[in-house]
Amino acid sequence: MVIQTMWKDRLSFSDFDDAVRRIEGLGRMGCGLLRFAVPDIAAAEALGALAKLVSMPLVADIHFDYKIALRCMDFPIAKIRINPGNIGSKEKVKAVLDKAAEKGVALRIGVNAGSLPQDLRKSAAMDRAEALVEATQRELAVFDEFGFTNVVVSMKASNLADTIKANRLFAKATDSLFPVPLHIGVTEAGPLVAGVARSSAALSLLLAQGIGDTIRVSLSDSMENEVIAAREILGAAAEIAAIEGATAGNAQRRLKRGGVTVISCPRCGRHGFDTHGFCNRWLNRLYTLDRTITVAVMGCEVNGPEEARHADIGITGAGDKVLIFRRGVIVQTVTAVEADKAFEEELSR
Ligand code: SF4
Repeated sequence: MVIQTMWKDRLSFSDFDDAVRRIEGLGRMGCGLLRFAVPDIAAAEALGALAKLVSMPLVADIHFDYKIALRCMDFPIAKIRINPGNIGSKEKVKAVLDKAAEKGVALRIGVNAGSLPQDLRKSAAMDRAEALVEATQRELAVFDEFGFTNVVVSMKASNLADTIKANRLFAKATDSLFPVPLHIGVTEAGPLVAGVARSSAALSLLLAQGIGDTIRVSLSDSMENEVIAAREILGAAAEIAAIEGATAGNAQRRLKRGGVTVISCPRCGRHGFDTHGFCNRWLNRLYTLDRTITVAVMGCEVNGPEEARHADIGITGAGDKVLIFRRGVIVQTVTAVEADKAFEEELSR
């Protein structure tokens, strides 16, 4: 399973130092694919120049203008999201496919419920999920005609039922004949909390059935939070697949929980340590750790020491002090002001 996110702003050459740093950070957090909107040739030039500076596979998202796709493929771009139905004439489609084949670039067909062809949108013969699958099959048929198979498909809707049903139908229809990798996600899922909850509900169901090869959690929030959310959804799906045993089949083999697990208390009137502030300050950093560890962040002594005992590293309030634990042993007792520094020291150790 590969986690994907999407750059949230227009890329410009003047941002490159920051962009490279941020992309490296996303990679350490577990992001394995990064998509950029490429609305014009200038954006293609900027993305191409950036692609030479990073090891993260980059994806160009292109609509309508096949010349932008051709230009992107002059650079080390890993994948292009473009729908043949958007490009126009067969000659233009062929030009894109020929160059993609020559350069080894994968193409992603991305069909969204909001941009279905007119006839499918109005069809009384099929519901929206079936229309998403039909639209995808039409796009695939064009690739098939030219013998192009280095392709990934996504079918997204903001409606959970449509997303789940479309992906299930497509996986069932293609699995035995010609398994096409599926990129899964709920489009326009919403702001952080609602978007994570909705994506989690839909995507865990698909993942537990072994559906999905790449994943994005689309949030009105940061790329880092999209990556964290995807990691947590994959981890949760792995735990579900493990208890479902044989029925989860393929999913059980492909999913695993790795990296950091953060246990943090919701905080209440007993707290002596602000778990919210600590999590906000530390979360991105913790998710870049290349270790499978559990971190406990607790507000007070009621549950704190017990939870911290099970964790590899824990921090908990205790009256006007803060305790730092390593595998159940108190290693530092500090004030709240000193807590971050002390935690950093123990984490480094
Ligand atoms: Fe409240 Fe303490 Fe439990 Fe946190 S650990 S929710 S502060 S009782």
